[in-house]
Amino acid sequence: MDDVILPGNTIGVFGGGQLGRMIAIAAKRMGYRAVVLDPTPDCPAGQVADDEITAPYTDVTAAKELARRCAVVTAEFENVPADTLEAIEPIVPVRPSSRVLRIAQNRIAEKTFLAEHGFPVPKFRTVRSREELLCAVSEIGCPAVLKTATGGYDGKGQVRIEHPDEAERAWERLGKVDCVLEEFVLLEREVSVIVARNLRGEEAVYPVAENTHSRHILDTSVMLARIAPELARQAQELARAIAEALSVVGLLCVEMFVAQDGRLLVNELAPRPHNSGHQTFDAAVTSQFEQLVRAICNLPLGSTELYRPAAIANLLGDLWEGGEPNWAKALELPEVKLHLYGKAEPRPGRKMGHLTATAETPDDALRKVLEARRRLKAKEAS
Ligand code: AMP
Repeated sequence: MDDVILPGNTIGVFGGGQLGRMIAIAAKRMGYRAVVLDPTPDCPAGQVADDEITAPYTDVTAAKELARRCAVVTAEFENVPADTLEAIEPIVPVRPSSRVLRIAQNRIAEKTFLAEHGFPVPKFRTVRSREELLCAVSEIGCPAVLKTATGGYDGKGQVRIEHPDEAERAWERLGKVDCVLEEFVLLEREVSVIVARNLRGEEAVYPVAENTHSRHILDTSVMLARIAPELARQAQELARAIAEALSVVGLLCVEMFVAQDGRLLVNELAPRPHNSGHQTFDAAVTSQFEQLVRAICNLPLGSTELYRPAAIANLLGDLWEGGEPNWAKALELPEVKLHLYGKAEPRPGRKMGHLTATAETPDDALRKVLEARRRLKAKEAS
């Protein structure tokens, strides 16, 4: 097969957090070498990879060093500066490309791309000036959500607007930067679908995940989502079509809203492994991390089938408030798996790890993983 990057070659990863760590684990398991570039030494991925380059993402010289040492380069998160990736594209294949990252890292570009290709998104308007803001509020109505075009994640950089009078203050709070104003959607639930695409355009679509958030941060995710099979099929087809329209090589996670009025709307694109796909590590024939390695190395893609329904619960730094969590207590449930990311400092809101549970049904998996997380806080020694 042409253009296949075989085991033994080195994969470069921009970003050394938990996603980079799990990419490195999958790569190493398949016999690849992994080098990570991250601004912080001893980062979660660096602990697993063969080597780490410690440099800011804007350091093009360091990025070129990574490029020269690798057969292919990927990014664990979409906010690696697209300019840095573009600068190394003449040296090494970057998958997904800087073009895809550029679209995903700017809400204006992302929503415009989706709308222009006929994909369903919440009603939105671009806001680059006071005039555009006032016009957007009158066209979209209230309640609405004002979101910064760049730099927002986990609910940062967004303000809900209940009344038109609040719009100017909300924009000031966001620093009067470029924004999108979108309708506030009454949500029935939030779901996401991960799609893999290799260089030959072969595609593999994961089952739909159903997600809950707490303080705008993903809290739990269940696979299979508890939605009608026809809606699940629609969500999977939507994600697949978007990955194809973007010509993604690698992974694309499409976050979606199921609105109370029945609409299926795209909220956000993440061209990388996603928190809502961590179930696949323990419950799928091919994990999202292995699938990324296969896709960027142009290998045949693996089956996305789940062995069993599964749920994950994130472990945030807040859990450490009363001291080190009682890991053994959670693992008394034999179908629960512990994933810790090797982060030294458990700050509130910081993703430190997750638990996965598999079960006969999605409901049982969710119950089990929540029970395991509850037990972590148990004071008595195991
Ligand atoms: P985002 O950073 O755009 O993914 O938004 C974070 C979370 O805020 C989403 O997962 C939703 O729970 C909520 N949210 C964002 N945009 C909207 C919207 N237009 N309508 C209702 N809820 C929203």
